Amino acid sequence: MTEQALGACAGCGVAIQIEDPRKPGYAPKSALNRDVIVCQRCFRIKHYNEVAPVEMDDDDFLRILHGVGATNSLVVMVVDIFDFQGSWLRGLPRFVGKNPILLVGNKVDLLPKNINLNRVRNWMQHEAKERGLRPEDVILVSAQKGIGIDDLLARVGELRKGRDVYIVGVTNVGKSTLINRILHDYGAADMEITTSPFPGTTLDKIEIPLEDGRFIYDTPGIINRDQMGHMVSPQDLRKLTPTARINPKVYQLNEGQSLFLGGLARIDFVRGAHQPFVVYVANQLYIHRTKLENADEVLAKHHGELLAPPSGAEAAKKLPPFVKHSLKIGTNGTTDIVISGLGWVSLQGKHEAHVVVHAPKGVSVGVRKGLI
Ligand code: GDP
Repeated sequence: MTEQALGACAGCGVAIQIEDPRKPGYAPKSALNRDVIVCQRCFRIKHYNEVAPVEMDDDDFLRILHGVGATNSLVVMVVDIFDFQGSWLRGLPRFVGKNPILLVGNKVDLLPKNINLNRVRNWMQHEAKERGLRPEDVILVSAQKGIGIDDLLARVGELRKGRDVYIVGVTNVGKSTLINRILHDYGAADMEITTSPFPGTTLDKIEIPLEDGRFIYDTPGIINRDQMGHMVSPQDLRKLTPTARINPKVYQLNEGQSLFLGGLARIDFVRGAHQPFVVYVANQLYIHRTKLENADEVLAKHHGELLAPPSGAEAAKKLPPFVKHSLKIGTNGTTDIVISGLGWVSLQGKHEAHVVVHAPKGVSVGVRKGLI
């Protein structure tokens, strides 16, 4: 049988094949008798929460995205508000050509209560501009909770002006969840796309027909390798992924104190006046305060145990070694220290501060204008 005859996986959209279990789209022959056919990988993710690595390289993703630039379409770029930096699709202006862009901030349900959403939208516009992108508009949604989807679709309707729509984003921003939400709540086909907390779940382009004969295309996500999620086990990824509204935790620190965010990062307050450090990470992540002078010893003794995730000594050894990022915080208002994939720590910017962040090699660490 040819691949075409077997159709596409209802989970990730990749062509189904029955020859090679290590290649994308593999399904055992018995699976072909089911009404809805999914590849073995999607089946496992769905039923056992297990991820099988798949051989697909970034060139394939890049090829598809370059194709978007050649079309006349509306490009909807989805980012994860919680990991804005880590979820930014680099080089997007190159990919999209002259097409208008609608920027969508997903996972708005994670932001703390009483937050000013207009401020968040303005902040996203500002951050996008800094990265060379001028979106037509910014929409905040929660694909999971179904918040803001009406607004999003209305705006897409206005901006697309009879054109196709391409949804783009790096993996793990919730693109599949968003597509599922659109499919379920807005009457489209009876298929469901696999979602998982693991990067790289959508493998090929998925098309959703629109009434005027045009399509919404879901493109595969490119993996941003500097996301923390690529460095820990699936079990540990669950411990650092926020699943509910974040409760910020306030630590009044003196210089010479350190905070451990689980065993995944350490923040040393080297110099500056006594001030609050407000930590925005998954509620379940253990935060440990200690004296800076003891921090090396505490890490050596407790990494993977008290300071977890990573869970267990073996997992701690597998984590890339910590590297130091020396940050000077000025007095220009609230500043966030961002540790990609883990969260951020907010300083009021009333006093100058020298902070050193230790994070696994490859994880991007930086400062930005305060989000909140
Ligand atoms: P994709 O790789 O971009 O297709 O991402 P997925 O749709 O597979 O989602 C990645 C992870 O983010 C999964 O664990 C989802 O449950 C989670 N997720 C997706 N949308 C939301 C959302 O609106 N809020 C929250 N809190 N989590 C979300």
